[in-house]
Amino acid sequence: MLKLENWSKSFNQNTVLNNINLEVPTGNVLSIIGSSGSGKSTLLRTVNFLEPADQGIIQIGTTTKDVAEINQQEILALRRQTAMVFQNYALFSKKTALENVMENLLMVKRMTLSEAKPIAEHYLEIVGMKDRMNYYPNKLSGGQQQRVGIARALAIEPEVILFDEPTSALDPELVGGILDLIMKVAHEKTTMLLVTHEMNFAKQVSDHVIFLDKGNIAEEGTPTQIFDHPQNERTRQFIRGFD
Ligand code: ATP
Ligand code: MG
Repeated sequence: MLKLENWSKSFNQNTVLNNINLEVPTGNVLSIIGSSGSGKSTLLRTVNFLEPADQGIIQIGTTTKDVAEINQQEILALRRQTAMVFQNYALFSKKTALENVMENLLMVKRMTLSEAKPIAEHYLEIVGMKDRMNYYPNKLSGGQQQRVGIARALAIEPEVILFDEPTSALDPELVGGILDLIMKVAHEKTTMLLVTHEMNFAKQVSDHVIFLDKGNIAEEGTPTQIFDHPQNERTRQFIRGFD
């Protein structure tokens, strides 16, 4: 599970996240939707400690920390419990698919090569990439690179996976396959925080949806509430823009 309380972040005078409160129960999918610049990526990046939040309490699994008091070692421990899937895949170009998936197992989980290899192969098989595991990223399509990115996240068996627009850099014909894979991962009861512009997919996969507007949760609810019966005028406008 993931829980944030009074979670805030500013860049200079610009408040990007304003006292966000949210909870993703174990095995649930929470989708975040909102306009460009509303703070979606910043939310994921602060949960993953790629950026420090200014204020707030974070709970991941059984560990709860106040960012005002957290030390570097505790940050590393929390980071080990999340994995991020990026819009641009963010694979190491000088490593093969297999080496990319093994990287965190070796570096973060401190496994030996012989421990890490079968685990990485297992997850590459799940995403349909076992036969290409010795390819370098530049020999893979965008969809194949994203499959490797998803295998890399799954392999460390994190408490929560953070997806930041995982299909928005893909050619249209490759989007469906990646959404099917994310759906499959969700059905395995993976706890997920998903930022997406794929509204139909968000409606199908999510347990709960948050509409973020200028760093505030303007509206939240079930997919039916948000997509079919939005109450807030800003949500209505946003959803209408996707029809
Ligand atoms: P998009 O849909 O375009 O990806 P987003 O909702 O993910 O948008 P963020 O990337 O979280 O938006 O950015 C929110 C705001 O924070 C923007 O105004 C952006 O300019 C600002 N911002 C993000 N990162 C930084 C940074 N490192 N330094 C200064 N400002 C930043
Ligand atoms: Mg973003």
